Amino acid sequence: MLPPSPLEPLLLPEITARGLRCFVKRDDRYAFEPGSPLQGNKVRKLSPLLRRSDLAGRTVVTFGGAYSNHVAALAAAGERFGFRTSFLIRGEPVRNPVLDFAAARGGELRFLDRTTYRLRDDAATLRQLVPDPDHIIVPEGGTSTASLPLTGELFHETVRQLGYAPDYFCLSAGTGGTAAGVVAAAAGTTTHVEVFPALRGEWMAETIRRQMGNARAEFSVFSRYAGRGYAKFPAHWQLHRPAGALATRADIGVAGLPPLEPVYTAKLFTGVLDRVSAGAYPSGAVIVVAHTGGIY
Ligand SMILES: *Cc1c(COP(=O)(O)O)cnc(C)c1O
Repeated sequence: MLPPSPLEPLLLPEITARGLRCFVKRDDRYAFEPGSPLQGNKVRKLSPLLRRSDLAGRTVVTFGGAYSNHVAALAAAGERFGFRTSFLIRGEPVRNPVLDFAAARGGELRFLDRTTYRLRDDAATLRQLVPDPDHIIVPEGGTSTASLPLTGELFHETVRQLGYAPDYFCLSAGTGGTAAGVVAAAAGTTTHVEVFPALRGEWMAETIRRQMGNARAEFSVFSRYAGRGYAKFPAHWQLHRPAGALATRADIGVAGLPPLEPVYTAKLFTGVLDRVSAGAYPSGAVIVVAHTGGIY
């Protein structure tokens, strides 16, 4: 759907001093236009929807948290590809830049209490929430069994760009859909996948395994870098919001590393760099960090 996102070396003294080679897979640049929230794994997962020829004038319904990048991505897609959007948002009615962005693109916002939200995959509940059979339903985060090979492409692209499989492939996780695709894609290679969840809790490994289908592969999950939880950040991060941006950026205090999207990638880079300092990667190892992007 788009040309491969760039793969760039990450030359930080703390990495090179340990004899490691690190690359950043710039999937934040996987976008139709720079700066759009329709980017990275959100485009990869939505690509079957965006390729449909029967979208014009239809309504696409999806689910998400109030700060969900997926919500902003689908709103941008609706505007670009000419379909209507309707969002079923978890929790109390609120407004924030993400929801304002969706509403400004004509997106309908409905708020669901958490109990109803949890039942979103139940067929009867779903029929009640979305009674019109003409509406197209996209699951939370855009993640479905169909998205497995699409997010796996993130890994295959990287291998083609490097010319070999890296020793480590590190990425963030929200629904775990991208991680499941990457783990399945890396099965049978020498790459070890490391997952750094953006949410607190110890359930991510199981969630990823459930989404992997028949693929059998080992991977690691490092949940401690999620800190206080989803969209909650350590006090020492410098957060700022560039003029006109949808979300803040985080300066995680590493010289030479540009400010990152805080919900996912700042936690991921914090985790990888912490593991580098702890000597977790053997000298000579090649590490790829997937910059899944995020909305700035
Ligand atoms: C959505 C998103 C993720 C999480 O992807 P999942 O497939 O839901 O795990 C990670 N990084 C960014 C920037 C995202 O927008």
